[in-house]
Amino acid sequence: MTIAVIGAGAAGMTAALSASRRGAKVVLLEQHPRAGRKLLATGNGRCNLMNASDPAGRYFGGGADAAVGLLRRYTYERLRDHWESLGLICREERDGRVYPASGRAASVVDVLRSRVSGAGVELTTGRAVTDILREPGGFAVRFDGGEVRADRVVIATGGKAAVNDGDATGYALLGRLGVPVTELSPALAPIRVEPSDIRGLKGVRVRAALTLARGGKEIASEMGEILFSDGYVSGIAAMGLARHVTRGDGRAVGDDRPRELRVDLMPERSADEWRRWFESRVYASGESAQDVLRGLVHPGIARRLLAAVHADATSAAIDAPWGGIGRMLRDWRLRVTGVGGFRDAQATAGGAGLEAFDGETLECKAVPGLFAAGETLDIDGACGGFNLMWAWASGIAAGEAAAR
Ligand SMILES: Cc1cc2nc3c(=O)[nH]c(=O)nc-3n(C[C@H](O)[C@H](O)[C@H](O)COP(=O)(O)OP(=O)(O)OC[C@H]3O[C@@H](n4cnc5c(N)ncnc54)[C@H](O)[C@@H]3O)c2cc1C
Repeated sequence: MTIAVIGAGAAGMTAALSASRRGAKVVLLEQHPRAGRKLLATGNGRCNLMNASDPAGRYFGGGADAAVGLLRRYTYERLRDHWESLGLICREERDGRVYPASGRAASVVDVLRSRVSGAGVELTTGRAVTDILREPGGFAVRFDGGEVRADRVVIATGGKAAVNDGDATGYALLGRLGVPVTELSPALAPIRVEPSDIRGLKGVRVRAALTLARGGKEIASEMGEILFSDGYVSGIAAMGLARHVTRGDGRAVGDDRPRELRVDLMPERSADEWRRWFESRVYASGESAQDVLRGLVHPGIARRLLAAVHADATSAAIDAPWGGIGRMLRDWRLRVTGVGGFRDAQATAGGAGLEAFDGETLECKAVPGLFAAGETLDIDGACGGFNLMWAWASGIAAGEAAAR
């Protein structure tokens, strides 16, 4: 039996390896000259390849439940053993994030490339697959300059996040085979806010709790680092909310109810306790309003908070509206205007609808012999290794099932 796997990324290399280990002849087709290119950039070059915590609630999109279901079978422990069997030792860090012990994404790519080649997978790089045609008993897979015949096909072409202009994705291939593809939008992307709300904060990093609200209703929250740039808020906490900016509370892209990012900078005290704390200090000091905030927040943020309550940073502390400032420390509101583009995103929300696939084997119900894995499906995970974990688990499931 010949299996064609389209896309030599995380899911595709894993699927190819799993199918080949079960005795299938595997042809792996990749448009770029090198397999696993995107993996090298993951986790800031360290590759946060899994997460040891419970996957429930960490996946989104139409296939979220299916993803959690599959990860109950391909558990973290099982995936860690899988990696160990390939020769890669994993190490768990804060919040359940798991990295290669080497601390290098390159180790993950090297291990995958060498096991794929050692398993006899026929890797063809620099060839984008342009069409998949159904034939009696199989498929004809067309790529730039050639065609292969396969009994089964695994589509693991990834999403639109961080792909170069002109790169192929698999959505058109899936669409032509009759697989429904839901609307695509950037997930794990910077959030665009009114530039004046964060003026002067470029490069400032803080830890905060963020809540995204739409039409006054709170939709989702994240805690962690945020980073300000020109007109954008990024960092783990902000990026984790991006999919909710475009998708909101289940409404489609284009929902234009006002959205805001509520930033809780100082959870140590309530707004009222902060007011009292300020007031107890300022009556005894001749400081400016900005001086009073010096020990609490970055000076740039202090200026923004004071501007938002119409206070002059250099005015006498005693005249500043400390009640309003106390409230802003806990609930500083930034007007959200959208998210960064796919180029700046780490994942894609939307994709091939999971209802078209068997949740265990990832075989397309309407096109027997066609399988899909990874980001190309309508599943996106939270920050922290969940997207790659899905790529490995779905790659193994699809590869094993295709070879069965
Ligand atoms: C900067 C960055 C950092 C990230 N960091 C993390 C992290 O630390 N942890 C985490 O869990 N996730 C991370 N992610 C997300 C993670 O990289 C993806 O979720 C994961 O790579 C998806 O795997 P995949 O195999 O589905 O797709 P990909 O890894 O994107 O692989 C798809 C492959 O298919 C090829 N392809 C597409 N179309 C065709 C075609 N028509 N013909 C031939 N080949 C084709 C592509 O060139 C690509 O090589 C990060 C993403 C980015 C952009």
